[in-house]
Parts: sequence; C-alpha cells; structure tokens
Amino acid sequence: MRILVTGGAGFIGSAVVRHLVREVGAEVLTFDKLTYAGNLANLTEIGNLPNHQFLKADICDADAVREAFQTFRPDRVYHLAAESHVDRSITGAADFVQTNVLGTFTLLEAARGYWSGLDPAAKAAFRFLHVSTDEVYGSLGPDGLFTETTPYDPSSPYSASKAASDHLVVAWGRTYGLPVLVSNCSNNYGPYHFPEKLIPLTILNALHGKKLPVYGNGSNIRDWLYVEDHARALHLIASEGRLNETYNVGGRNERSNIEVVRVVCGILDELAPKSFPHSDLITFVADRPGHDARYAIDATKLETELNWRAQENFETGIRKTVEWYLANEAWWRPLRDKVYAGERLGLLATADR
Ligand code: NAD
Repeated sequence: MRILVTGGAGFIGSAVVRHLVREVGAEVLTFDKLTYAGNLANLTEIGNLPNHQFLKADICDADAVREAFQTFRPDRVYHLAAESHVDRSITGAADFVQTNVLGTFTLLEAARGYWSGLDPAAKAAFRFLHVSTDEVYGSLGPDGLFTETTPYDPSSPYSASKAASDHLVVAWGRTYGLPVLVSNCSNNYGPYHFPEKLIPLTILNALHGKKLPVYGNGSNIRDWLYVEDHARALHLIASEGRLNETYNVGGRNERSNIEVVRVVCGILDELAPKSFPHSDLITFVADRPGHDARYAIDATKLETELNWRAQENFETGIRKTVEWYLANEAWWRPLRDKVYAGERLGLLATADR
C-alpha cells in the first residue's frame, strides 16, 4: 500500500509516518514544507528504511502536488499538513488561511485529478483522510461531549481555518465522489511535540528552572490523547471507516491545564529533582484571547464501529512523555536554541481589542 502523508515531518504526522513505515509496512511519501514546526529529526528513527521517501514541498504549490501524485501514485492520502498553533493564529492568521484552507483546496484538486484517472478498482479503493481537530466544535460548558453531529462553532483563526478545510473535504466527497473521510481529534501529546505547546513547554521550562506560564486561572479543560494512539486511530479510520463519514478521536482523559502542569511537575520532582518543588515555578499569566473553556470528545462511534481503544491513559502517557524529553535533549536543544525559546505568543496589543 502506498500512502502520501502531508505534514509528515510534524508532531502527529511523524508519529503516523513512523507507524505506517514500521508497523504497517506501507510505502510512504512524506510531503512537507518544513516550516518552523516541521523537522526531519522527527523521522530519524525511520529515515533510512527503504519504504520511506521524503519530499520538501508546499501543499499550496499546485504543480508540486500534482507531480507528487503522478510520480508516487498513492493508494491513499493522509492529510496532516497545517499551521497548528492557536496562539500564532491570533497574531498571524494569513498563514493559517493560506495553508489550511487554500492548501487543502489545492491538495483536494490534485487528488481529484489523479483519482479520476485511476482504473475502476483503484478508484474505488482510493482514500483521502483529512485530519482535523475538535476545536472546530467551539467550546463546551461544564457538561456534555462533542459528537460527530455537534454543530461547527470555531473560536480562533486556527479552528476557523480547520473548519473551512473540513467543509471543503466533505464537499469534494459529496460533489465529486472523491472517497473522503474526516477525523476530528482532541489535544495530542507525546514525543517530538514542538516546544511551543503546553506540555513540552512546561517540561522544558521546568527543567531549566524557568517560570511555567499558565493562561488565565488554569481551569480550561482539554481531553488529552497520546500521539501514538492517534496515529493508530487514523490508519484504522482510513482502512475501515465508512466513506464520507466523520470520526471523533479522543482519549476520555479530561484534565484542566493547571492539573496537567502539576502532574508534569510531580513527575519531574521524582525524575529530575531540584532543591524546591517544580510547582513553585507556576505563574498565572494573561489569558489567551477567545480561549475556549472546555473540549471533550465522545469517541463512541470510533470505539463501537471500528473497535478502537487508546492504549495509554493520561498517567501512563504523560510519564512516557516526560521520560522521552529527559532522554532526548539532542532533539529539543536545537529547537529551544534556534527556533523557539519559549517566549509568549498570541497576545494582542490593547489597541487591537
Ligand atoms: P505540526 O505543526 O507539528 O506539524 C505540521 C506539519 O505540517 C509540519 O511538519 C509543517 O512543516 C507542515 N506544513 C505546514 N504548512 C505546510 C504546507 N503549506 N505544505 C506542506 N507542509 C506544511 O502539527 P501537528 O500538531 O502535528 O498537527 C497535524 C494535524 O493534526 C494538523 O492538521 C492539526 O490541525 C491536526 N490536529 C492537531 C492536534 C494537536 O493536538 N496537535 C489535535 C487535533 C488535530
């Protein structure tokens, strides 16, 4: 099986590529622009395996995308390329609209052109899996869960751009018959997570004795999923999911941000102790504009139709993650030194509000 993975040098994409190349034994083409978030070091574990190829290219470049389809001739596309950080979308929405909306459109058109020229059996077997987020559903109150029928209600430029891309994918299925599936997942964490996101930022700041910024009062709730569980879910959805359907993916592991930070501190107190508890470094900072209060996924459809179960719960997954960062300074050191040192992102000047 030949699978084109866009965004395969990113956090989740690289977990998907590692899973496909090592466990599934698929032929994989990683198609990635290598933005600040893309990193070939995420693929070193499988870099030399003969069933993996890498192409540095932009999904907004129609010629490059068309050429990749014609030369690689995929049976499937797993589309993960995106601008992914909400804070960056607040102060720089243009890249999000460009890549997430126009890039997805460009990819869909290239996929459609290629797919329509396949023989009937290959055409029927072709799959385009679009990987999206639960943030498209907006914010929950204290109760309830997002299901596949929850109306879209995005709050940030990031989630609005992802919502737009989801609609394009569904439309290409309904209008042109392209065999599409959409997955909407909750917050991921795990190895190779770029250190601008809450969990890796907390681990690395804590290791360096720096302040641990928590937005607002830390009560915002996310439903955490270990990235390798997500990678397995995506391949299962593409392999066995029903066409034109959406599947929600989530680990049933709701935690408030302050709980997450305290758990990381507790593990570091054990594994990398300082003369004071790491939680002394916690500092509450100005909230994110438009910060959604709570996300939580009802994954019943994925669990019952496709028999999916997460292998990690939050306790086992977060411990593995902290241990991975402790053991992999060679991965994160260059990112902290050269790409992102941990400064606050996504704050509006007072005049902007
Ligand atoms: P990431 O930012 O770590 O990786 C994105 C990758 O896409 C990078 O390798 C980057 O170089 C590449 N990319 C960006 N623009 C590109 C372009 N124009 N052309 C080609 N490649 C480009 O993101 P991630 O956290 O791995 O997320 C992957 C996907 O999963 C995204 O679509 C995101 O919306 C979705 N998602 C993420 C989460 C999460 O918790 N991280 C949760 C649900 C869904």
